Amino acid sequence: MVARMSRRALGFALLLMLVPLALRAADSMEVVYDDGRAPERVPLLRVDGEDAWFVRASDVARLLRATQFWNASSRKIVLGVGKARIVLTVDTRVVVIDGEPVMMRTETHYEDGSVLVPLEFILETAGQHTPRGFSWDEESKRLAVGGAGFNVTQVSFSTAGGRTVVTLHMTEPLIHHVDTATPGLVRIKLYGGRVDVRAFDVREERGFVEKVRAEQSERDAFVTLDVSREATRLRVDRSDNPPQLEIVLERGSSEDAEAGTIQIVDEGASAAGEFVIDRICVDAGHGGRDNGKESGDGVFEKDVNLAIARTIRDRIMEELGIEVIMTRDDDRMVDLFERTEIANTAGCDLFVSVHCNSWFNRGTGGFESYFLSPAKDEAGKALQRFENEAGGDDHAAASKSDVQFILWDLVQNEYIAESSTFAEYVQQEMTSRLGIQSRGVKQAGFVVLSGAKMPAVLLEVAFLSNPAEERLLVDPSFQRRVADGVVASIRKMQDRYR
Ligand SMILES: [Zn+2]
Repeated sequence: MVARMSRRALGFALLLMLVPLALRAADSMEVVYDDGRAPERVPLLRVDGEDAWFVRASDVARLLRATQFWNASSRKIVLGVGKARIVLTVDTRVVVIDGEPVMMRTETHYEDGSVLVPLEFILETAGQHTPRGFSWDEESKRLAVGGAGFNVTQVSFSTAGGRTVVTLHMTEPLIHHVDTATPGLVRIKLYGGRVDVRAFDVREERGFVEKVRAEQSERDAFVTLDVSREATRLRVDRSDNPPQLEIVLERGSSEDAEAGTIQIVDEGASAAGEFVIDRICVDAGHGGRDNGKESGDGVFEKDVNLAIARTIRDRIMEELGIEVIMTRDDDRMVDLFERTEIANTAGCDLFVSVHCNSWFNRGTGGFESYFLSPAKDEAGKALQRFENEAGGDDHAAASKSDVQFILWDLVQNEYIAESSTFAEYVQQEMTSRLGIQSRGVKQAGFVVLSGAKMPAVLLEVAFLSNPAEERLLVDPSFQRRVADGVVASIRKMQDRYR
């Protein structure tokens, strides 16, 4: 009897050894940190039927210095990384970051008591959405984890000759936008910036600067200067080597001091005074056999884009008397190369591409604007590859697919200051007019087919996948508000670069 029991127990033990067949500890990776933690080896796992590496969620959490919470009933794991909250669900490719879904190529699994996260999550998703940087060497299976990953590291001051120079020190060149709309405040946005907030907490007066503080948003860093009313002129000197921005504050006219306004001088490549807006290219996305996105009720994006583009054209001509070139004025296919070529050949001074957004979640909505620049890091390039591979059929990737639809060249680098400024103006104007969520200005780095030789932005006006926004998109009065927002932004551009 005893012998038989133990044989059964042995059989059971053998069976237990066979159960986790699906999960194989295939290899390990070396993880090195730049925040003083000792290097370690972390298992890389395989799951049957998947051609990808997996890492246990507990290892991922340690690597990211994240908190983790496992909800067994909903089979979700919640990682808290800094302020971001990241949710992965077992047996899905969806990662929800602060409420916004992102798709991975590979599903998260649950095997043998562990949540198994695709390595892709660390290399691409976490790299994009947390302040940490990762670099992966496939050959040696070595993962380098950038500690806090700050790329905006320090602020310094110099005062001489009646001017104050505030230098923002960075570890890589970042695109900036300076906003002086609020009297007494200079707000500098650094796209893709990860700022060491503590290093920017300056409370004592330095020349014209009374106070400095920094904030981190999900994607960008912001540095705010409280400045004396005496400082009414501002210039930004940008250097890539070493990467830094110098904000030069000077005394200007007494009227400006009275009004509390700050004039921005010498900004951007076209600051020499040649940026005059005589002709604008309005590009209605998609067309012909390319319908773009489609709403639940069968409304095609190409038709909405054209209706909005036409309204924009009419309003620009009526209000500003500026010539408008359309890349298409009927339902026909125009290829990417041709679109920017039309704008270049006509000598347009601005390029506005009109699109609608879409997402598998009907509740997602809002307005966002893009200016485009080349992918600047490995994570960005990986994302770009993913988006390019995702193709048009994968509806889940739809919200990003427009960005590849208009592809800019390095040529756009020359116009980044103006493009980002224009995108910021458009975003501000739409926020006050449209009554839908502002999803912000986004910088996307996708490879280019052909360059628009002018400042260029892409508008994702609203979501066709959201029933309430779909009704707005086909409503002529909403289309008119969009057009008026574009007109107001062009006016601001004329004022800024006059
Ligand atoms: Zn589109």
